[in-house]
Amino acid sequence: MKVAKFGGSSVADADQIRKVCAIITSDPERRVVVVSAPGRRHPKDTKVTDLLIACAEARIAGVSGREELDGVLARYREIAVALELDPEVMENIETDLRRRLDGPTDDRDRFLDTMKAAGEDNCARLMAAALRAGGAEARYVSPKEAGLVLTEEHGNARVLPESYENLAHLADGEGIAVFPGFFGYSPEGRVVTLPRGGSDITGSILAAAVQADVYENFTDVDCVFVTNPGVVTGARALDELTYREMRELSYAGFGVFHEEALEAVFHAGVPVCIKNTNNPDAPGTRIVHERSCPIGAVSGIAADKGFCQIYVSKYLMNREVGFGRRLLQILEDEEISYEHTPSGIDNISVVLREQEFTEAAEQKIIRRIRDELEVDDVSVERGLALVMIVGESMRRVVGTAAKACQAFADAGVNLEMINQGASEVSMMFGVKADDADEAVRALYGEFFPSAE
Ligand code: ASP
Repeated sequence: MKVAKFGGSSVADADQIRKVCAIITSDPERRVVVVSAPGRRHPKDTKVTDLLIACAEARIAGVSGREELDGVLARYREIAVALELDPEVMENIETDLRRRLDGPTDDRDRFLDTMKAAGEDNCARLMAAALRAGGAEARYVSPKEAGLVLTEEHGNARVLPESYENLAHLADGEGIAVFPGFFGYSPEGRVVTLPRGGSDITGSILAAAVQADVYENFTDVDCVFVTNPGVVTGARALDELTYREMRELSYAGFGVFHEEALEAVFHAGVPVCIKNTNNPDAPGTRIVHERSCPIGAVSGIAADKGFCQIYVSKYLMNREVGFGRRLLQILEDEEISYEHTPSGIDNISVVLREQEFTEAAEQKIIRRIRDELEVDDVSVERGLALVMIVGESMRRVVGTAAKACQAFADAGVNLEMINQGASEVSMMFGVKADDADEAVRALYGEFFPSAE
């Protein structure tokens, strides 16, 4: 049995939804389907989720939000009309959206989540109707009734363990279960959303809960590539990746699969297959525990911009018990999560996501570090990128770091930081964001010479 998730571009308009229906009905094993909200139809388009956020924000700001809502309704109507669905389907979607918009706004985050969740919820109703219209047996499944229970962290929720048992029998009924991605309910029954792009996570939770044979994640590319094909033209395709490799690559900017989505399937041992709605016959990329086909030391190269680092130095830091803890405590007090802490004898750097580290937070934190830790020097460097080489085989191969550093040197890329975890599944290099693309091309040329 397969769980199939379809992303925003796969459900962006009626033509895409027709393709999705054909994919689902072509394989009786596809019994659980997860959908995103309609995404962009073309590069300048706006995703339904973003339209809903604009709508909610207008209402919070004291405007009616009706104008923005009309934009959302137009997207669903266009699909429902083109698919010649029963008019009742669109009437129900309209009633649902207007009811949400008229709801209480006193708790901003709760209201925002109620609106955001409408994108997926109504898309699932529409998808179930489209499947039925095509003669298939399909039912919309409410995450509340099915028991997808999440922590009450609006916009950033995590699954609670009881969900797996609650959802285990999802595929038991007749026909296809269509489940909306991206949201669930808190133990108190309030709508909560996962992080953006979180329908991948929903699919993974369901695949783990029903012990699917495979979790198929349908998107708009044939497969995962060794590196961003927008940076390296003709980058090689990947047939297989391990969960750990995919996790690392997603962390460092591979947008094809949400970085948190692997957790559930990894623990349940369900393989993932990334496939293309626009070319479903392409084999896609499989994500598995152990790779069956041999590959060199490096499986993938990723780069993500938008990092910064706080550099702290203090003579005899290595002798000062609790220095690192006190430094990180300051960040915790300011509710800032850090990414990495490469260190020397008398210095330590804390690498952060730039979006978390506002100018106001910077001023306060730097002052506290100076005052409370009595450091010799503290400075902040913005505009960094993390470039990662990832590969399970790296730990068995000698000289990978040397090759990478040589490639950087040849390309004239200055290294700001090097970090390698004990797992040896990845190696991380901090470079100036402006050098990131050059760094990726240099690494690709080094590790995939024949594929250039
Ligand atoms: N629709 C949501 C978003 O745009 C979730 C998703 O597509 O996975 O982030």
